[in-house]
Amino acid sequence: MFSNPIKYDEPVFRPPSEAYSLILQPTIGCSWNRCAFCEMYASKKFRVKSEKDIFLDIDDAASYLPDTRKIFLGDGNAMVLGHEKLMRIINYLNGKMKRLSRISAYAIPKDMKDKSVEELRSLQKAGLKLIYVGLETGDDGLLEMIDKGETAKSMIASMQKAKEAGIKSSVMIINGLGGRRYSPQHAENSAKVINAIQPEYLSTLVLSFPYGVGHFQQRFAGDFEELNLLGLLHEQHSFISNLELESTIFRSDHASNYLVLKGILNRDKQLLLDKLQSAIDAPEMANLRQEWQRGL
Ligand code: SF4
Repeated sequence: MFSNPIKYDEPVFRPPSEAYSLILQPTIGCSWNRCAFCEMYASKKFRVKSEKDIFLDIDDAASYLPDTRKIFLGDGNAMVLGHEKLMRIINYLNGKMKRLSRISAYAIPKDMKDKSVEELRSLQKAGLKLIYVGLETGDDGLLEMIDKGETAKSMIASMQKAKEAGIKSSVMIINGLGGRRYSPQHAENSAKVINAIQPEYLSTLVLSFPYGVGHFQQRFAGDFEELNLLGLLHEQHSFISNLELESTIFRSDHASNYLVLKGILNRDKQLLLDKLQSAIDAPEMANLRQEWQRGL
């Protein structure tokens, strides 16, 4: 453990795989902050820190942790910053922390829209190696119902641009997002978008309701009926069946998931499908997490 001199604007979120990264907050909150299922930054009004304050944070961090190797840029979408500003931040980081090997950030697809491939490539070369992107679904109707501000086409275009620039992506799809009515189209169209993107990392998590299902239903501009466990398993099965991936590391091991699935797709596709089918056929025999077993 170390004493981090940076004063954070709480709450702070980061992906599980950034547990050992130093977190900096050049931005506070999420510039979109409208998705129906998301309460992460509801308490924060989006703002960009001044460069002076960002550099002071970096100075403080570098004086305590000069050997930092990984940096995660918060909050919800630091990639919204313009190319020039991001370059200045990354260059300053590189000047202060000589052993830095990876900079990563959350992003939303529209953050890449106004950046050219060349600009993204220069960020990648300077150290921005990985972006975490919540795609949530590949279905246009559902994207509208959750107010994501994206379409399948816009997400594919942005993510392909990042890939062309050499920036790796870790993308997320939400199991159960459309409830019973939209489940088939959610599974199929999400797989289509993922196939077009060919991300390096893919994960799924299960829709949760921190303020209750009624709160979500009010924000969801459609007909939402929560999926039960079998519905979630069927949806996951359909999603994975439709994936055609060259080499994507897949994880479904977030705390919200009922059945832990891990593998490389498509290499391990049949194994994952068999595991899901076993759970569908005999959920009481499957190695489901305890809290889900209670819901059988
Ligand atoms: S873009 Fe991401 S962080 Fe922002 S509201 Fe949507 S899900 Fe939440």
